[in-house]
Amino acid sequence: MNLMLFGAPGAGKGTQAKFLIEKYNIPQISTGDILRAAIVEKTDMGMEAKKFMDEGKLVPDSTIIGIIKDRLAESDCKEGFILDGFPRTLAQAVALSELMSNMGISLDKVISLNVPDELIVGRITGRRVCSKCGASFHVEFNPSKKEDECDYCGGELIIRKDDNAETVISRLNAYHDQTAPLIDFYTKMGVFVELDGTKDVSEVTADMLNALS
Ligand code: ADP
Ligand code: AMP
Repeated sequence: MNLMLFGAPGAGKGTQAKFLIEKYNIPQISTGDILRAAIVEKTDMGMEAKKFMDEGKLVPDSTIIGIIKDRLAESDCKEGFILDGFPRTLAQAVALSELMSNMGISLDKVISLNVPDELIVGRITGRRVCSKCGASFHVEFNPSKKEDECDYCGGELIIRKDDNAETVISRLNAYHDQTAPLIDFYTKMGVFVELDGTKDVSEVTADMLNALS
C-alpha cells in the first residue's frame, strides 16, 4: 500500500500516520522528521534547511527530492510507505510521479485531512512532539498519558522550534500558495480522498481506515 497523507501543517497527518504504521506495517516517511534529524546531527543539509524551517518557508525542492529518492530506495519501503508532508510543491509531485513510475509502483490513495485555518493555530501552538520518535500530542486535544512523556517510546516531549504563532502564518501561506494546487493534480489522478480532519482523532482514524478498506 503506497499512501500519502495530505493537508495543512497541523491537520493531523503525523497523528494519523501512527495508526497506518500499525495497521499496514509500512513506514511513515515524514520529510519534516528527516530534516529535523539532519539538524540534530548538524549535517550541511540540516544546517541549510534550518534557515528555511525557522522562518516557516519551504526547503528548496532539490534538497527534498534528493531526500525522498534515497528514502524510497531503502528496503523497508518495498511493501509500501506513508508519505507525510511530501510532496508540498508541484515540482515535488512531478518528481515523485517520475520516481515511482521508474520503480514500477503507483500511489494507492492520497488522504486529505481538511481543517480550516482558524483551528490550525491552536493545534500547532499546543502541539508537543516526542524528541525520540517524533510522535505528536496536544496539551488539550490529544494529551499523552504521562505529562511530557511519549506514549509510544517513553521519549521526552518537546515544543518544536517552528511551532509558534508567527511561523504558523508563513507556514499556512506556503501551504495555500504552493501545496494546495496539488489537490487538483491528485484529483485528476483519481486517488484523492477528502476527510473531515476537525473530528476527534479516533473518528478521523475510523474514517481513514474506512476510506482505505
Ligand atoms: P501534522 O503532522 O499534519 O502537522 P499533527 O499530527 O502533528 O499534524 O497534529 C497537529 C496537532 O494537532 C498535534 O498537537 C495533534 O496532537 C493535534 N491533533 C491531531 N489530530 C487532531 C484532531 N483530530 N483533533 C484535535 N487535535 C488533533
Ligand atoms: P512538517 O514537519 O511537515 O511540519 O515540516 C516542517 C518544515 O520542514 C516545513 O515548514 C518546511 O520548512 C520543511 N519541509 C518539510 N517537508 C517539506 C517539503 N516536502 N518541502 C519543502 N519543505 C519541507
